[in-house]
Amino acid sequence: MRLVFLGPPGAGKGTQARELARELNVPQVATGDMLREAVANGTPLGREAKAYMDRGALVPDDVIVRLIAERLAQPDAKRGFILDGFPRTIPQADALERLLGDLGVSLDRVVYFDVSDAELVRRLTGRRSCPKCQSTFHVTSNPPKHENVCDRCGSTLVQREDDREATVRKRLQVYAEQTSPLLDRYKKRGVLRTVAGEGKIETIHGDIKKAVNG
Ligand code: ADP
Ligand code: ADP
Ligand code: ZN
Repeated sequence: MRLVFLGPPGAGKGTQARELARELNVPQVATGDMLREAVANGTPLGREAKAYMDRGALVPDDVIVRLIAERLAQPDAKRGFILDGFPRTIPQADALERLLGDLGVSLDRVVYFDVSDAELVRRLTGRRSCPKCQSTFHVTSNPPKHENVCDRCGSTLVQREDDREATVRKRLQVYAEQTSPLLDRYKKRGVLRTVAGEGKIETIHGDIKKAVNG
């Protein structure tokens, strides 16, 4: 199964991709997680990406495309993958098409998460993230079992620098301008499925499985 999870920041892509990837036994390929790891490790990639991420802008396409090309060449991606947070621009979608074409494969589905702006702002400003394993929680709607402690690995949760309200507004604007045009493209290709992204996490999980299999 080769899937793309498409939607604005805070739509629930990471939460759902983690779970579905586990069930399908394919890797969750989350460019945001990969970039944050590079920043944390102080690699050249991380040093290049940090300034863009901090101000809520997109990291340049060529950097991201190189990162994805390397990741999809790994043996575990042969079985399939869930792309979470990529592609985010038309040039990235073009590059993905070329990459997959070279491998002789194509996307099975693009799942679009439909969530209102008000809910996105509420989710992002209340999001708490694990700096170690990248699990995410929400202070009220998806709290960890113990306050500020990651359920999965026990690390102390943090609020991402770019989850403060001013940067959140900027990221939503960047999404509207640079990423939302992809919807039309995947609709034309016949692979787009829209899922209502508001409601219980388990309900949405079921809807995604229907969208992916139907
Ligand atoms: P969210 O899950 O809130 O949508 P991500 O973790 O996916 O956020 O991304 C965080 C930041 O990493 C983005 O604001 C952007 O700076 C950078 N980033 C992640 N994926 C991409 C991408 N495909 N293209 C460009 N920048 C990206
Ligand atoms: P994305 O990867 O699209 O940026 P996340 O999966 O990180 O989004 O989710 C954003 C925030 O919303 C997190 O705090 C997460 O716990 C919370 N969240 C995810 N799904 C739901 C849901 N169905 N209802 C309420 N909050 C949710
Ligand atoms: Zn953790």
